[in-house]
Amino acid sequence: MLGTGSVTLVGGGPGDPGLVTVAGREAIERADVIVTDRLAPLAALAWAGSDAEIIDVAKIPGGRSTSQDEINQLLVEHAKSGRHVVRFKGGDNFVFGRGSEELLACLEAGVEARVIPGVTSAIAAPAMAGIPVTHRGLTQGFTVISGHVPPGHNDSTLDYAALAASGTTIVILMGVRTLSAICAALVEGGLDPETPAAVVADGTMPSQRVVRATVATIDVAAADLGAPAVAVIGPVAAIDGLQIGPDA
Ligand code: SAH
Repeated sequence: MLGTGSVTLVGGGPGDPGLVTVAGREAIERADVIVTDRLAPLAALAWAGSDAEIIDVAKIPGGRSTSQDEINQLLVEHAKSGRHVVRFKGGDNFVFGRGSEELLACLEAGVEARVIPGVTSAIAAPAMAGIPVTHRGLTQGFTVISGHVPPGHNDSTLDYAALAASGTTIVILMGVRTLSAICAALVEGGLDPETPAAVVADGTMPSQRVVRATVATIDVAAADLGAPAVAVIGPVAAIDGLQIGPDA
């Protein structure tokens, strides 16, 4: 017989606990078990009940890690034992967060699951640097890509020439190590080397750092910025909305 537990995938936003949604906070407050990881805003765990069990499955690059299968199993087993489980992740669980894999694992196991979307760093980190991902008259869309593997890698499925020609803002996540190769592929694909570019590290955090350059020079400008960081390429990257006051 199934227990009456459940799994709730909660998007924790980009780091500032103020950017967790009201629904996300309520789920944390009610949770019996919280399965969290590296980029989730840890300050939000203070909202958990005193009896809640907190399990950190941080995947530290090159270090300790829990496999996705183990995480799926953990969620399912706790829910089947009748507990309300929150899977707490940075940003939005469905943006490079493997949320759908976890959701499907729950459904396959007959575990009740729901999703509370989060504020994704793809939009929020640029916004906190005053960069809008769209701006009327400049761009009619934005494309969010993973820089986890560089252009030309066997696992890469992205068409950089198509991205270069898309006319959309290009937002790159997980691209600190591959930024140089990605920018080169975009220019090779026909993007104007003078196209504005920016990188925002630790977006929304007190330690936030921003650099601006062009697609031809951003890799050098951002070399020492560190992770996590979001890169933005397109005319909007030249906008500094933080400089625009109400009278501007
Ligand atoms: N699900 C997350 C993204 C997970 S992939 C989301 O929706 O935001 C991890 C990548 O997210 C990092 O490599 C980095 O590119 C980006 N990222 C997450 N938090 C960030 C932050 N506070 N500032 C800048 N980039 C961030």
